[in-house]
Amino acid sequence: MSKNYEKETICIQSGWKPKNGEPRVLPIYQSTTFKYDSSEQMGRLFDLEESGYFYTRLQNPTNDCVAAKICELEGGVAAMLTSSGQAATYYAVFNICEAGDHVVLSSTVYGGTYNLLTCTMKKMGIECTVVDPDAPEEELNRAFKDNTKCVFAETIANPALVVLDIEKFARIAHSHNVPLIVDNTFATPINCNPFKWGADIITHSTTKYMDGHAMSVGGCIVDSGNFDWAAYPDKFPGLCTPDESYHGITYTEKFGKAAYITKATSQLMRDLGSIQSPQNAFLLNVGLETLPLRVERHCYNATKVAEYLEAHEKVAWVNYPALKSNKYHELAKKYMPNGSCGVISFGLKGGRQAASDMMDKLELAAIVTHVADARTCVLHPASHTHRQMNDEQLIEAGVAPDMIRLSVGIENVKDIIADLEQALEKI
Ligand SMILES: *Cc1c(COP(=O)(O)O)cnc(C)c1O
Repeated sequence: MSKNYEKETICIQSGWKPKNGEPRVLPIYQSTTFKYDSSEQMGRLFDLEESGYFYTRLQNPTNDCVAAKICELEGGVAAMLTSSGQAATYYAVFNICEAGDHVVLSSTVYGGTYNLLTCTMKKMGIECTVVDPDAPEEELNRAFKDNTKCVFAETIANPALVVLDIEKFARIAHSHNVPLIVDNTFATPINCNPFKWGADIITHSTTKYMDGHAMSVGGCIVDSGNFDWAAYPDKFPGLCTPDESYHGITYTEKFGKAAYITKATSQLMRDLGSIQSPQNAFLLNVGLETLPLRVERHCYNATKVAEYLEAHEKVAWVNYPALKSNKYHELAKKYMPNGSCGVISFGLKGGRQAASDMMDKLELAAIVTHVADARTCVLHPASHTHRQMNDEQLIEAGVAPDMIRLSVGIENVKDIIADLEQALEKI
């Protein structure tokens, strides 16, 4: 956008800019394909000589408008939507890594990310070293190898709620000549802009707060344009040497700051095809319009609930960055001064059994796998999302076996607390 609008304004006004007589609201381009007048013109599109739409597996105008909005919210130079957050993580890493390469991964990342990097991508020949994000710099430095291509971490870890010291991670990644990729799903660009602190690439599961209504699965990758791939051509040959599958185009030469996203679109999306449906992108855009309002309420409610739980006699511990007692309180104040997210975790004095008993007694808060939408919900990670991990892996991932993950919604907080109260009374 030409003007430097505030985020609330970007959420409403950015993306779709109708010309005279066009629909006011972003249209759903529900079309797999696009028509051209000459065969010559179509040929130029395939050569990436001209930009334009030709097939929705690669790009679609509805998706691009929504990606542009998220790009602006993050302060990036280019962005793309993917079919899910998982696809965003996969593409973000695979775009710069191939068999024989290595990734440094924060241990507290989302369970799906952990599996993807440590199991599935390992089968593809990409190794990873898992690090404790709170470890001292010397220890983190030791995780790097000659074939390391990126560092991956989360701004606020799901569900451990570890707040990343983004500046520290960016400094370490850059000292090893590799980019820092951060998953900014929980903080959202409303509460934190990791590019300001040195991150190079951002991923999102748009399924969470961005969509906000638990309606559509989706993901997004945003590039800051700041990482100088061309300075390390041996490390990033995919970006810095000719792409045989595109008639010898070299992405960094031809697309400059848009090299990374252009490669992810024209190569990975072309070949792997995890595109977001335009229908889902439309729903995501509706969610984005109210994101700042909802995030503010999520944080307000979650703070009240965390304070309530912390004072309750049956509660053993509460983890929420806004609490003064929290280990990450200072980091959260630095990186997300307006609030962190709506997710809290806590444990009961009765342990693992009490956790599932209490969850069964909740009436308003539903037991669902989802997190970070308008409705309050709960989950027991050790029995659900992180079921495949043993106790040792759980603790390494910051997931205590007795942890209840409570995603505080935007209902009236009095009702949310009353529901917790009646459930706690019954155990
Ligand atoms: C949910 C989630 C993902 C995966 O996203 P999907 O849209 O479910 O594929 C990745 N990272 C974080 C932090 C998440 O919460």
